[in-house]
Amino acid sequence: MASSTARGEQKPSIIQMSDKRSEISQLGEFGLIDHISEKFSPKNTNSVKGIGDDAAVISAGDDCILISTDMLVEGIHFDLAYTPIQHLGYKAVAVNVSDIAAMNGVAEQITVSIALSNRFSIEAVDALYAGINSACENYKVDLVGGDTTSSVSGLIISITALGRAKKENITYRSGAKVNDIICVTGDLGAAFMGLQVLEREKQVYISDPNMQPNIEKYEYLVGRQLRPEARTDIVFDLREAGVQPSSMIDISDGLASELFHIAKNSGVGIRIYDDKIPIDNVAFETAVEFNLDPLTCALNGGEDYELLFTIS
Ligand code: ADP
Ligand code: MG
Repeated sequence: MASSTARGEQKPSIIQMSDKRSEISQLGEFGLIDHISEKFSPKNTNSVKGIGDDAAVISAGDDCILISTDMLVEGIHFDLAYTPIQHLGYKAVAVNVSDIAAMNGVAEQITVSIALSNRFSIEAVDALYAGINSACENYKVDLVGGDTTSSVSGLIISITALGRAKKENITYRSGAKVNDIICVTGDLGAAFMGLQVLEREKQVYISDPNMQPNIEKYEYLVGRQLRPEARTDIVFDLREAGVQPSSMIDISDGLASELFHIAKNSGVGIRIYDDKIPIDNVAFETAVEFNLDPLTCALNGGEDYELLFTIS
């Protein structure tokens, strides 16, 4: 549509989609993000870091504001057959706070946007927000806004976290140097094994609803999947120890994928040692029980929300 602005009459701009059809699967998630982002460049000098890290960095005086968004979609990121909805609320906050921690910053505010179908009751919404509230208490963040709309098929939660850090303390994916050592803050693969257990118990329940789920032995794994914690403690520990990581990222997609981001953004190669990768005993045994390679689960499982960082 033609519009008149303060700068005068503007010509109508029509963006014509071509007849060509290219599959998104050719690009994959990261390729698609690159494809989107290459058409944009920052226009404001305070946009210090845009697309491409765990959070955007906006300069604001001595400090920088950090901004990160994550969306959880029913059927893709969670299954309400085995996910208590209050845990889902908690997790949706934790995964965003984790991205702020990955920049070596402290989260302060969140906005929460939800799309709901008529399958959801007020009680369900209350339970979701009880989880959100519990995470707000735990991570000391304030819910300051959001959006509410309807959906035809299930629940979508999108949370944006705002955080703060001193410019000199911010850790980017791009800062790793040759001869740095790479560290991870906890064990890997347990959240993925928790998901395998929950999926198995769901199938058992579908085939016989009288069967009681047997998850006691797997409590740690299921907890890692359903109610992960953001490692905000590490940001304070690093500060207290006077350690400034050269690069940092949180592990949402899996160790291998996050190492690749650090390597690519820093222009370095990374060597890891399989016997040094931390795997919880129950996660290891459960992987074997499921005929899976424990190392593959630790490398590619994802959703551990541990921090991965390099230090000189
Ligand atoms: P993370 O796993 O840490 O949440 P993502 O892989 O989701 O990070 O995103 C990587 C980067 O791409 C981030 O800077 C994010 O803000 C950006 N990004 C993701 N999707 C889009 C999009 N649709 N448009 C613009 N930027 C995006
Ligand atoms: Mg991240």
